Amino acid sequence: MENSLNIIEVFHSVQGESSFTGLPTTFIRLAACNLRCVWCDTSYSFGRGEPQTIEALINQVQCPYVCVTGGEPLLQKNVHLLMSALIEKGVTVSLETGGSLPIQNVHPKVHVILDIKCPGSGMSEKNLWSNLELLKPIDEVKFVIKDAEDYEYAKDILQKYALTNVLFSPVFDEMDSQTLVEWILRDHLPVRLNLQTHKFIWDPATKGV
Ligand code: SF4
Repeated sequence: MENSLNIIEVFHSVQGESSFTGLPTTFIRLAACNLRCVWCDTSYSFGRGEPQTIEALINQVQCPYVCVTGGEPLLQKNVHLLMSALIEKGVTVSLETGGSLPIQNVHPKVHVILDIKCPGSGMSEKNLWSNLELLKPIDEVKFVIKDAEDYEYAKDILQKYALTNVLFSPVFDEMDSQTLVEWILRDHLPVRLNLQTHKFIWDPATKGV
């Protein structure tokens, strides 16, 4: 269908990550991903999903905040039509992207949550650095940190590009959060600790977002 997208799921919860943490949110999870992060908690999104029209997706929105996620949402060109329709509907929209595909066509009112992949993900060579020049004041940059090597990598990138609105997220059950906080405080980094709140509420195996 011309105005459809391949969808894994639409559900309503509280946002577990980013500066929107805790807000009631409608999640629209798009199918497929071009990356394979070793710690990925949403591998069920790698499949083809089921086609749904933009109108059908809009009709399922229940919350004033909508998170378009994946997989990698930017793999489907109709994601831009979907996000424009959501903005027109008057909801706040964020886009979670793995950071390997260009963000230049994203609607200016969409809050981009851009991953920069650290070495521990196995995907750091896929980072599309030109995206950093396109970040808007409302966007956020997320580093998922697995170990000390990832932390040092993230710190270097943060300082090299003078990034703002930065999230440091420990890999769940692998990177000790207290240790990460100690490193952040030791180095006086202007970053936000990003715990995956949903995993403290629901079973991480079933509600990874
Ligand atoms: S980019 Fe996201 S969905 Fe894709 S493999 Fe990495 S963590 Fe999983």
